[in-house]
Amino acid sequence: MLRNADKKISVRQHQCPPKKYNSVIMSTKNIHTPLFAGLDIGGTKIEALLVDAGMTVLAQARHATNVSHPDNLVASAVAAIDDVLQQAQANREQLAGIGIGIPGQVNPATGDVALAVNLNLTAYPLGEVMSTQLNTPIRLENDLNIAALGVYRWLNEQGPVDNIAYLSLGTGVAAGVVLNGRLYRGSNGMAGEIGHITVEPEGALCNCGARGCLETIISGTAIVKQALATVQLDMPAKQVHAGHVFAAAANGNAAAQTLVARIADYTSRAIQYLIMTYDVDKVVLGGGVSGAGDAFLTPVLQALATLRAQSDLFNTMLPASKITLLPKGYNAGVWGAVYLARNQK
Ligand SMILES: [Zn+2]
Repeated sequence: MLRNADKKISVRQHQCPPKKYNSVIMSTKNIHTPLFAGLDIGGTKIEALLVDAGMTVLAQARHATNVSHPDNLVASAVAAIDDVLQQAQANREQLAGIGIGIPGQVNPATGDVALAVNLNLTAYPLGEVMSTQLNTPIRLENDLNIAALGVYRWLNEQGPVDNIAYLSLGTGVAAGVVLNGRLYRGSNGMAGEIGHITVEPEGALCNCGARGCLETIISGTAIVKQALATVQLDMPAKQVHAGHVFAAAANGNAAAQTLVARIADYTSRAIQYLIMTYDVDKVVLGGGVSGAGDAFLTPVLQALATLRAQSDLFNTMLPASKITLLPKGYNAGVWGAVYLARNQK
């Protein structure tokens, strides 16, 4: 829960309970303008966060996303911004920038959304529209990249670190990479898309059309698919998620243990690819699969230890200390959004 230093500022709830934030809310009397806002726009909800120039939290809100029409989506995003401003007794003129994370293909340079299926947006100039309405600069990024910035910010709260990767194992598998403190996008915005590295050339068919992509083994979707084929779980197939597989393995289910070992093996290689490619100091694991916590992390660390035993190079480059789970309750997306608005050029 938020630690309310000022009773006048409260967390507004719109349909969903608030998430945890780890910064102290300051009294409105201490607001240091300019202000920065972040939006994490998902298919069902919009998370908003308002901070001052020192990244101190002033207000947060959660609104439902209206995806019925682009105009309605913009209206719900603007309402979330106005909500946090109102909570902080601030106004639009005090905003120096807004960062927005979008689940889809975006052009960070123009603020255009090429395609965001869950938001019902195609070729839509979201950045320009929002910038005009709110009269403030808008920075747009895809949700994974913006989460990587949020992870970078979280790590740097604990100590300085320049180079990090955020590896998300969810519906798909991908990493966001921050190098020398800057988001690294690559030429096509595809840097870190390691979910589509071929690891089993004769393996399962991937959504991208190829066979045996990493994503066909360690994504949440792939874990469920493999579990339904090989593991006896006492529940309807539709209810199975990755967490059940880790729980079954912990309870001694041999087939689940075999599958978990396979997932850990390939996840450790994903970590190896990120470290050997980008030479990052930290790899943070997130996404739905990581929600299994230690039941997920411990086998991954064991698989990394097996890699370390193979060579002095791996022993040097792949220490367990580089690997950490994203803490539950830390909303990397919305923190990345305010960080983008505040720090990134
Ligand atoms: Zn693929």
